[in-house]
Amino acid sequence: MTRTNPATEESLSSVASHDGDDVETALATASETFWMWRDTDLRERRRLLETTAEVLCDRTDEFARLATKEMGKPIDGARAEIEKCAWVCDHYAERAPEYLADEPVGTEPETESFVATEPLGPVLAVMPWNYPFWQVFRFVAPNLVAGNVGLLKHASNVPECALAVESILREAGFPEGVFQTLVVGSDRVDSMIRDDRIRAVTLTGSEPAGRAVGQTAGKELKPSVLELGGSDPYVVLDDADIEAAAAVGARARTLNSGQSCIAAKRFIVHADAYDAFLDAFVTEMEALTVGDPSDPDTDIGPQARADLVDDLHEQVTASVEAGASVETGGEPLDRTGYFYPPTVVTDVPPDAPLASEEVFGPAAAVFRVESEAEAVALANDSELGLAGSVWTEDRERGQAVARRIESGAVFVNELAKSDPRLPFGGIKNSGYGRELAEQGLKAFCNEKTVWVQ
Ligand code: NAP
Repeated sequence: MTRTNPATEESLSSVASHDGDDVETALATASETFWMWRDTDLRERRRLLETTAEVLCDRTDEFARLATKEMGKPIDGARAEIEKCAWVCDHYAERAPEYLADEPVGTEPETESFVATEPLGPVLAVMPWNYPFWQVFRFVAPNLVAGNVGLLKHASNVPECALAVESILREAGFPEGVFQTLVVGSDRVDSMIRDDRIRAVTLTGSEPAGRAVGQTAGKELKPSVLELGGSDPYVVLDDADIEAAAAVGARARTLNSGQSCIAAKRFIVHADAYDAFLDAFVTEMEALTVGDPSDPDTDIGPQARADLVDDLHEQVTASVEAGASVETGGEPLDRTGYFYPPTVVTDVPPDAPLASEEVFGPAAAVFRVESEAEAVALANDSELGLAGSVWTEDRERGQAVARRIESGAVFVNELAKSDPRLPFGGIKNSGYGRELAEQGLKAFCNEKTVWVQ
């Protein structure tokens, strides 16, 4: 496929795709390797993850630059992404013995019984471009340490990052076949899931892709994890620290140039805090630097592809036509590259795209509500349920509101973020299943009951 650097619109060199024979060879290799890998001592699997973290730390800059070139991520964020990949490897290297330990059930004295956690086999991972290393490593670290083997089908615009992941793991010493990257289109995914040698599938991506993968996995009775989109609420209550909420809110909306599933997308603000918050938030958004993603001073780089800017602008203009007002931004930048400015929109009608759809770019919709109850109702008035934030100076109130928000995670007085120690995933149309933490490691394990009479 033709690929362009999203900041410069220059063509990127083409990367050879794998064909049907390559896919067949990879599936056979994965299946054969699995039996060797599941019997490899856990200490060795952990050691290889530690070495992987070292490779990532030693060559952070090189991998970060690859992400910046292929999908336009600002370089500081790209470096942070590679460092986070090292963290997830270290996390599972350290915690795997605890996560994988047999769990006695307490049926004594009648008998001894326990739950053993065992790997399932080759797992197919279908991944998106927005965090081209992190999305893959958060799958790789728990699954490889648990004894599964992995096959990656990455997004078509980041093949060099995809191949780099395989080479990082090989350099760290993982045996051939434990992790393989296949440079293939999404049309190959269905037949791979249906292949007997694939035992489970995980997809991070859009809702349509999730539905396609979930449907095939369901028909084939294979476990699946779906990490899909979000339209996360960012609730600012009347007693919030407005300055902090505005500063963190601007970061939460524009992280990764706005292309993050758990970005704050709908800012729901109590009437008593509304004017002060809107002023401070617009000021914060306007202060962000848009530009060359290889410059460390840049806050917001280009959107990853030309069609993504078009989609984003269409959402903004359709919302304005429906009655919304633009407070700042709102037009693509007139320059080379796929740049969209930080944008704040108010008075968004409930059915307008900025209120009802996932917005994957630096455009924020700010809503005014009269009460805490109305804030919770609006937060939950979405088909998506990935994460969210609540801002209040009263921590107990924050917890109470957090419990009433329908999502996979809520952060009080902080932006929503993923962390290897915490389970990550959504509800409703944001998907199902969990990644990270113990729950993520067990997603593709057989929790086997063993009874010894
Ligand atoms: P996407 O278009 O759904 O692509 C994601 C992956 O799925 C790519 O590898 C893509 O391959 C593949 N794919 C697309 N259609 C498919 C189909 N019908 N069957 C099988 N595979 C298919 O999503 P994206 O634009 O790359 O990523 C943005 C979306 O991902 C957003 O909605 C975002 O919220 C979501 N996301 C969610 C999380 C989370 O953790 N919940 C994290 C990051 C992103 P090709 O590239 O070859 O089309």
